[in-house]
Order: sequence, then C-alpha cells, then structure tokens
Amino acid sequence: MQIRFHGAAGEVTGSMHEVEAAGHRLLLDCGMIQGSPAAERRNADRFPFEPGGIDALVLSHAHIDHIGRVPLLVRRGFRGPIYAQAATADLMPIMLLDAAAIAEGEAERYNRRRRRDEPEAVPLFSRDDVEAALERLRPLDYDAPSEILPGIVLTLREAGHILGSCVLELQAEDRTLVYSGDLGPCGAPILRDPAAIARADLVLMESTYGDRDHRDRPATVAEIGEILEAAWRDGGNVMIPAFAVGRTQELLYWFARHWQQWKMDRWRIFLDSPMAARVSAVYQRHQGLFDARARATWAAPIAPLRMPNLHFTASVAESMAINRIRSGAIIVAGSGMATAGRIVHHLKHNLGHRQAHVMFVGYQAEGTLGRRLVERARWVRIHGRDYRVNAQIHTVGGLSAHAGQQGLIDWFARIAGREGDAGVTRPSLALVHGEERAREALAGELGQRLGVSAHLPNPGDSIAL
Ligand SMILES: [Zn+2]
Repeated sequence: MQIRFHGAAGEVTGSMHEVEAAGHRLLLDCGMIQGSPAAERRNADRFPFEPGGIDALVLSHAHIDHIGRVPLLVRRGFRGPIYAQAATADLMPIMLLDAAAIAEGEAERYNRRRRRDEPEAVPLFSRDDVEAALERLRPLDYDAPSEILPGIVLTLREAGHILGSCVLELQAEDRTLVYSGDLGPCGAPILRDPAAIARADLVLMESTYGDRDHRDRPATVAEIGEILEAAWRDGGNVMIPAFAVGRTQELLYWFARHWQQWKMDRWRIFLDSPMAARVSAVYQRHQGLFDARARATWAAPIAPLRMPNLHFTASVAESMAINRIRSGAIIVAGSGMATAGRIVHHLKHNLGHRQAHVMFVGYQAEGTLGRRLVERARWVRIHGRDYRVNAQIHTVGGLSAHAGQQGLIDWFARIAGREGDAGVTRPSLALVHGEERAREALAGELGQRLGVSAHLPNPGDSIAL
C-alpha cells in the first residue's frame, strides 16, 4: 500500500490523499483550498494525477475543504464511484450548489468589470458539474465494512465533527490504513464522540488544533447565557454570524436546552439563512446519528427546530423586514465570518447602536469583516461605506468542532499497532490538516508522551506501508 499526499499537508484546507493498494488507486477527500485569493487560485491547477486513473473516491465529511473540488474532478475525467456516509451524501448537494453559486457570482462580477484585454473569468465549476458529481454518490452507513474495490474494504467510523463525519478505515493487502478526517471534541453536544479505533498500521491524523486546547464547553455555554442576558437588559438585538453546518444547530440546541433558565421565550429568534435551514432539515432527518441526550432534546416539546418563537426567513423581503426590529431579536445568519450573506446587512443596520450585541461563535480569519470587529475596530467599511461600531462585540471561543491537542493525543493513544516480538507496537503516524506550527507542536508532544515519531508530509511526499 502506498499513500501520496496532495493537499492539506502542512496546511489546513484542500484535503486530498491518494492511496494505491491491491492494484487500484483511490482518493481520500478532494477538498477546496481556502484562504487568500492567491491560495484559492490553486484550485484551478491541474490535479497531480490523472483523474481518469482514479478508481474510487471516499469522502470523510461534507465540509467544502474536503469535498469542494469533487465536481472539478468529475469534469476532468473521474468516472468512479464516490463513497460517503449517508448524511454526508445528503449534505453534499447543499454545500456544492452553494459553492457553485458563489463561484458563478464571483466570475460574473469580475467579467462585468474586467477590461477588454483581460481574460474572461471562468467559475471553478458549474451547477451541472455538481449534478454530474452527485450522480456518482454511493451512500454508506457507519460500522458496516464494505468491499468498495476487489481486495479493498472500507469501514466508516464516527468522527464526531459534523453530521455524517467519518474516520475512514481501509483494509487492503493485510494492512490497515486509518484516516481521521476531521475529529470532533469529546463531550460536544448533538453528535456522538469520535469512535475508538482498535488497530492500524498507519494513521493519518488531523492536527488543526495540535498546539492548544479549547476552553471547556460548560463555561462557554454559560457565557452565551450571560451575553443574552446583558443584551436583553440593554434592549438591543443580538446578531450571531454562524456557519450553516454544525454551529447553527448547536446554538439552537443550547437555546432549547436553556429555554427556561435563559428565558428564551421573551426573544424573537430568526434563523435568517436558507442554507442553514436546509442543513438543519438534514440534521432533523438523521436524528438516529445523534447522541442520547440530543435525541431526547429533539423529542422534547421545546425542540431546537420547533421553538415557538423561531422564525425561518426564506425570502429576501422577510430578511429585510427584520431590519425594522430595534430590540428583542436574536438573528442567526451567515456567513460565519461576516464576509458575505445576510448577516452583513444586519450588521449595517445594527453596528451603530450602543445597545446592540454581536456574538462571534467561530474562528474569524485574517482580512474578514468578522476579524476586524473582533479586533475592536471603531469603524468598518461595508459595501463601500464606513460604519461606526458602537455595538458590543463578544467572542465566544469554546464551541470548536475540532478536538484540541489533548483530544488528538488521547484518540491516537488508544489505537494499537502490530503484534511483534516486543509486544504490540504503536501504528505509524502522519500528521495532516494543520498549519506547520500546530502540527510541529503536536508532533513534539506525541514524541515526548508516547515516544511516537510522527511524519510531517509535504505535498508530493509518499509513505509506503
Ligand atoms: Zn471539517
């Protein structure tokens, strides 16, 4: 078995790993590179292999940095099956059609402004490419081994990161390769904890937060309650920029769970994101994948998606009507970093008010409106106009969907390697999906505490098993 690293090797986005085993080639994830415009231009580059020569694609979960180049792969000649957990398969059309619409919109805007001597912009992929990719999907269940190619058995295990997220276990040629995908933290709400993996010869493990641990969840949730209380006292609205997958559902879950304690019935709650509403419906359909606590919460009279004061706003007109509300509204809207989407309009209408509150519940990348607000800018530029920031800005840091350093070490430490003369060894380990600083820190800790010497592969590197 041979593993070649093509993406998310020394960086976080663009996950893509190639496996050669039992005379076949398969790809684990085919993600989009995200970040600066220069980084994102790399998405259009040629694949470092012949797409038509790949026999099958296996996806760990539906985040765009793991599936975002799938339509491009199909357009450029990939003709094999695409395996994914059933909930991931349900999330994929939502995620990919959204990405296609953004790409088409950006290309159109560019072409309208471009000078005649500049080349025309072409979107990375179209809605038709997405449809062609979706036709190749073969949904699978957790914990059910399946021979996806002669001599290659795939088993999906719970990763606890977003709905449908998987650890991939591949068996071929008497060897076991385990790819963590993105691992969730233990004890997070809604989803089950990442599954314990029994045995592996080689583990590819993510290292996004390899250099730190998160603030604990109960303290974080208490903080959300305090911010809502302060906002109610001030008599303003609360704006929450949130990602459509995972974070939005977790917020609604905590609102329902603290319905009485936080006096949630006094608010008007708006889920002002058609995409988040569609994703929430997929969560609703796959309740069987939740942990016991979440299944009970979803079955209670005040359930996360059935709170009596929760409004789903589908049309733009309904969204604009929210702007007339001066107080008592909680508005959850995308995008999560306030770079685009409906949240930007709500911020324009509310940032000037001293009694308004903005609650950031996720990572804010460099160069985004979210980052400028988190860094306490007094003025921000939105759609070409300057807005004074009088609203109160909060950063709630502990709602991560990723395991922290300790969680990653614990998960790996439980996996046994081969039985040798000196007893059971540890599996080999390669760290992916982390910035250099994070994965080096994690490699250092793993070396000190478990005596493991981790590979830190770069794009183009390979490991033979
Ligand atoms: Zn992810």
